[in-house]
Amino acid sequence: MTMEKEKDHTQEQHAAFMKIAIDASEENVISGKGTPFGAAIVKEGQLIAKSANKVTADNDPTAHAEVAAIRIACQELNTYDLTGCVIYTSCEPCPMCLAAIYWSKISVVYYGNTRSDAAQAGFDDDFIYQEIDKPMQERQLLTIPLSREEAQIAFTLWDQSPLKRKQS
Ligand SMILES: [Zn+2]
Repeated sequence: MTMEKEKDHTQEQHAAFMKIAIDASEENVISGKGTPFGAAIVKEGQLIAKSANKVTADNDPTAHAEVAAIRIACQELNTYDLTGCVIYTSCEPCPMCLAAIYWSKISVVYYGNTRSDAAQAGFDDDFIYQEIDKPMQERQLLTIPLSREEAQIAFTLWDQSPLKRKQS
């Protein structure tokens, strides 16, 4: 196989996994279950998880397609670390999903629709992106420091924890 053909082949594989995410986004709307978002997670060329957005179906504001797929993939692989996994999402991730992707250590994101496509469809994540950029005191969300010293005890405990030593 020439380099060029191999590249095409890989591109086809990516498109096939993206289609799984896109199909999930379409089915979610057609079935009346939810909003037009889907995601798939792949490891070493194998589909590990796929999900549509389940916010309305599950009454869970955090159940965006990417987060839902991450939960399934972690259950499936019995780990919280998705290093080496790739996520295909029908739309550029919102700030919550982007953060979840970082926390999961997923290495690559392929996205279909852009943030502005989503905004045009009435899903505007831009407000949250703007909030994140602001200093805490200027955000619409009231965020108030409280009981810092008491809260720090847990960090002192963590310093002695065998789980911490296992992780480092
Ligand atoms: Zn999201």
